[in-house]
Amino acid sequence: MDYKNIFKDLDIGEVLFDEPMKKHTTFKIGGPCDVLVKPSTEEQILNLLNRIKDKNLDYMIIGNGSNLLVSDFGINKVIIKLHTNFSNITLKDDKIISQAGATLEEIANFALEHSLTGFEFASGIPGDLGGAVTMNAGAYGGEMKDVLESVRVIDRDLNVIEIPAEKMDLRYRNSRVQDEGLIVLGATIKLSKGDYNKIKEYQDELTYKRTSKQPLEYPSAGSTFKRPEGYYAGKLIDDCGLRGYRYKDAQVSEKHCGFVINAGEADCSQILHVIDHVRDRVFEKFGVRLEPEVRIIGEFEE
Ligand SMILES: Cc1cc2nc3c(=O)[nH]c(=O)nc-3n(C[C@H](O)[C@H](O)[C@H](O)COP(=O)(O)OP(=O)(O)OC[C@H]3O[C@@H](n4cnc5c(N)ncnc54)[C@H](O)[C@@H]3O)c2cc1C
Repeated sequence: MDYKNIFKDLDIGEVLFDEPMKKHTTFKIGGPCDVLVKPSTEEQILNLLNRIKDKNLDYMIIGNGSNLLVSDFGINKVIIKLHTNFSNITLKDDKIISQAGATLEEIANFALEHSLTGFEFASGIPGDLGGAVTMNAGAYGGEMKDVLESVRVIDRDLNVIEIPAEKMDLRYRNSRVQDEGLIVLGATIKLSKGDYNKIKEYQDELTYKRTSKQPLEYPSAGSTFKRPEGYYAGKLIDDCGLRGYRYKDAQVSEKHCGFVINAGEADCSQILHVIDHVRDRVFEKFGVRLEPEVRIIGEFEE
């Protein structure tokens, strides 16, 4: 495909060809995608999507790549990355209006600056607003569902619409975004007036919990598996004697068994080897099927 020609003379933002996805995932893993585009305005996003539609191209949106495991063979698609270039955050009547590429940490800090409480739970999740809405990200008893008032999206017919949060079907690590192939442009976040010092104290407490319990010193995509009903994935893995289980540079974290980490120069196939091994052992011992929370994407051999 002659992508250079297809996107020539089009106002769509920064365009990178054959871009290694390992530069765009927190796992630091992934072969090249055909094209990676970083738009910075809604108009550029729509220009790009119109051209993609005209030429019938495959595409995918990513945020900060903190929930992605990308194949070593890369992705034969146009990747649209909203992280950093499309990340404006503003305040209107005590509500936060943010573009999809803003990180949850930036939004949490913005909320703190304006003494707004309710977003503390999200401060340490290393994703963007777009990824967090898509995944209904959550931690420490909070989830995106609790704080979203509405979500601004582009639908399949390229209409820009505002959807009330209660119509987003936000559920455990999923939402309507995936079901319908929507593109999250941004959201309105509704919080309550609070006390600056209390908000800061709670945020610091959660940061401490995270840094003491999670292997943040290694590249990963967070919890590798979804929480199986009635169990904790990390405990099941630990009870199988798999704490620290290693295959080449892919490893079950010693610090938190729910995380598979890149302990050096791991590639996707090594991480998948550990994931499969863990799933098989847990199923053999407990009859529980662990499902990956991490989204495994890209080209794989048949
Ligand atoms: C150390 C660590 C700790 C973590 N802790 C937590 C935690 O406590 N709780 C939790 O829920 N998660 C956690 N995660 C996982 C991850 O941070 C979240 O799932 C986050 O919401 C993903 O956001 P992202 O921007 O990185 O999305 P990506 O990983 O880039 O994408 C995730 C999915 O969302 C889609 N997507 C992204 N942006 C858009 C958009 N604008 N429009 C449409 N679709 C889009 C992608 O196509 C993909 O399917 C953790 C990850 C790490 C590395």
